[in-house]
Amino acid sequence: MSLLSVDQLSVSIRGDDGVQRELVSAISFAIATGQTMGLVGESGCGKSLTAMAILDLLPKPQAQRSGGKVVFNGSDIAQLSPKALRAIRGHKIAVIFQDPMSALNPVQQIGKQILEVLKLHFPQRTIAAQRARALELLTEVGIPAPTERLNAYPHQLSGGMRQRVMIAMALACEPELLIADEPTTALDVTIQAQIVRLLKKLQAKNGMAMLFITHDLALVSQVSDHIAVMYAGKIVEYGPAKHVFSQPRHPYTQSLLAALPGADHPPKSPLLSLEGQVPSIENMPTGCRFANRCRFAEDICRNTAPISETEDEQRTVACHLWRSITP
Ligand code: SF4
Ligand code: MG
Repeated sequence: MSLLSVDQLSVSIRGDDGVQRELVSAISFAIATGQTMGLVGESGCGKSLTAMAILDLLPKPQAQRSGGKVVFNGSDIAQLSPKALRAIRGHKIAVIFQDPMSALNPVQQIGKQILEVLKLHFPQRTIAAQRARALELLTEVGIPAPTERLNAYPHQLSGGMRQRVMIAMALACEPELLIADEPTTALDVTIQAQIVRLLKKLQAKNGMAMLFITHDLALVSQVSDHIAVMYAGKIVEYGPAKHVFSQPRHPYTQSLLAALPGADHPPKSPLLSLEGQVPSIENMPTGCRFANRCRFAEDICRNTAPISETEDEQRTVACHLWRSITP
């Protein structure tokens, strides 16, 4: 059984004109215990909304789940009581965001903030045990001189160190699933790599599953067992990371890969540049949402939305022509 399964999930937003518009359209994926799923796509394609829907944290009534379901550990989260939901959020599922500053309290020492999380989740532990655990967590996430750092305020730390603190706080509740929403986007490349290595290490140690959300396909391929590529609210391609990366099926995935610097994948593909814009939510095409940017587009693409086809039990692709255009 999957730890998390997202089945035909749709999320709609009500505009100022009162019209409901779908920003996430019938997406499906699953994450097994200890595995990492990478959700990749341009900003605004619905990745963060998907994360919020999983946590049932959509800003209602403007945004709401308009279809499908999210099942965590066998429970449909829409059917849970607020109490049961709180027991999952921040305990069984933890989240880290792009900007740790927005999640940390700027006027409280980081040691205090970690202790608060520990007190909330493990009220039965003694203060001494909680302090020891806070120190252990800071050490685990690679914060140098952790004893002194307990007394530091967030602004006294670098961006990379703040993200490590956020990871420590997320781990404090010993989650089964960590949702990492663009966790390294605000950091420079060297620090990015360190944080990714850290997440992988901690994941191997704790056996937690991870939903890694990013716009960076190269990054996601380093951390993920499976990748879902999202475009304009839909998953256009899904499969094992190494297959999606070495043999992309969807023209959008192919363009993303070809745009990577120094790419030796996919083999010998022409450099495809992605021109044009993602269609706006007010003007979603009835056919393939990628058609206005796709060099393979034909009439059928503009008229009929492609449905996800299963290539083998592992991979799906939503493109009318994928069989004929696969390099
Ligand atoms: Fe391109 Fe057509 Fe495939 Fe859409 S369905 S990605 S337009 S080939
Ligand atoms: Mg986002």
